[in-house]
Amino acid sequence: MADNDMSFAGRYARRALRALAPYSAGRDPDTVRRETGYTGPMIKLASNEGVEGPFPEALAAMQEAVAAARRYPEAGARALRHVLAGHHGVGAEEVFVAAGGCAVIQHLASAFLEPGDEVAYCTPTFHLYRLEALRMGAKPVTVSVDAQGVYDLEALRAAVTARTRLVYVCTPNNPTGGLIKRDPLRRFLDALPAHVLPVIDEAYFEYVDDGDYPDPARVKKLSGRPTVIVRTFSKMFGMAGLRIGYAIAPRDVVEVCQKVQNPYEVNRIAQAAALASVKAGEELARRMRANRDSRSRLAAAITALGLAPLPSHANFLCLRVGSARNVARALEGRGIIVRPLDAMGDPASIRITVGSEAEHAALLSALDEVLRAGIIDRS
Ligand SMILES: *Cc1c(COP(=O)(O)O)cnc(C)c1O
Repeated sequence: MADNDMSFAGRYARRALRALAPYSAGRDPDTVRRETGYTGPMIKLASNEGVEGPFPEALAAMQEAVAAARRYPEAGARALRHVLAGHHGVGAEEVFVAAGGCAVIQHLASAFLEPGDEVAYCTPTFHLYRLEALRMGAKPVTVSVDAQGVYDLEALRAAVTARTRLVYVCTPNNPTGGLIKRDPLRRFLDALPAHVLPVIDEAYFEYVDDGDYPDPARVKKLSGRPTVIVRTFSKMFGMAGLRIGYAIAPRDVVEVCQKVQNPYEVNRIAQAAALASVKAGEELARRMRANRDSRSRLAAAITALGLAPLPSHANFLCLRVGSARNVARALEGRGIIVRPLDAMGDPASIRITVGSEAEHAALLSALDEVLRAGIIDRS
């Protein structure tokens, strides 16, 4: 909506929304096929969806839930909150279930941001932090991740002002894959002033294979201050299409988030699938190892092409390619969808989701062609 837009929304939509560009999602195969004219199979490695789908127990629970679809879901996802609370060793009143981690981030913004407040985070990172801040008329304040793609907690701490209300820490960071260790995280949390709510976004927690990684779900032991931890069933649990995630937070924070949420936001099928998945510890461990091995083979093959992916602790790799848009378009013309990172604050890099071996083979051959065509700038 431009300033001279005289449509109804152009005149009367909330001021903060007029300059706001919509979320830029990974492109879907049908759109890409239509635009490029490519007729072969499309491989989507653009949205960090888990390479495996829901667990068998979750599929069975979903079938039952479908049969009961006439009924509203449980308001506030009560049963799931209890199971998650038991799993994480917190009280049920400290768990907030929403339609994905995205909805958690949205509700935190709605609950806590007044116009003029500041929201601090590092870039490049998940760009919903920015959009949700702008939606509320708040001001994003950013500092750069470090050279390894890890959140720079010292710079972030220095960016906190008297106006800061939310501080995001994305670890492993989307899109770089960088991980923060336990001690720096604890020091950072301890040093934050009381008027700031830190939000630790752990959408990729299950992929981390590192003994020195905190389970901030036990954050009360990590830090005495109010803190929010975001988790999702969209990535390793294989349920991105169901829309379900949650936060662990102080009970007062959960209560105020519930006030801005539709009580039936999370549908019956998603709740049932999540309930059936929480305890799948061994299967998660198997998926973690499979991802780690597959990611390291992919990183080695990309490195062999002369490119330099950042060290990643999640299910994706980030690499500098020159013009990310051009490279992404060239790969799309060869049937491969990756994510150019301009919307996330890095127009020179792309992000590639870890996929199957066959998908990697197709990706590598397309990358090789694009390199030979001179579309990638390795410098
Ligand atoms: C995927 C993702 C989320 C949550 O996604 P949902 O599908 O809404 O659960 C949150 N934060 C980051 C950094 C992500 O990559």
